Amino acid sequence: MFCRIAAGAAAAAVVYEDDATLAFLDSMPMIKGHVLVIPKAHYTDLGEAPAAVLGAVMQTVQRVMRAQRGGLKADGVRLIQSNGAAAGQVVPHLHFHVIPRFDNDGAPRGWAHTEYADDAERDAVAERIRTGL
Ligand SMILES: [Zn+2]
Repeated sequence: MFCRIAAGAAAAAVVYEDDATLAFLDSMPMIKGHVLVIPKAHYTDLGEAPAAVLGAVMQTVQRVMRAQRGGLKADGVRLIQSNGAAAGQVVPHLHFHVIPRFDNDGAPRGWAHTEYADDAERDAVAERIRTGL
């Protein structure tokens, strides 16, 4: 789907484009002005993309975020980026959600949270992540 948009074969309300990236309105916005930023080349998720692509994508994310503040007068901007279905990724093409937020927009600001049973469990989880580096 996003490859087709990047190729110009599917319609989208494009707000910014350069050689490596594309930014367009999400068709199911959380807030009006919700933008998706993608690399034009196909990468399933963040884990696949080389550093140069990530640099280009993040520059576009920053550009869009500044435009939401300047153009939409957003009070804040939230980024959401999901990898894998378990994380809520629906379209398997790397994308960042850049969502303008307003002081009284009524949309949720927080998320569900959990707690470690104790410091030993916390430290064991941190060690498992370190071993994956
Ligand atoms: Zn794709």
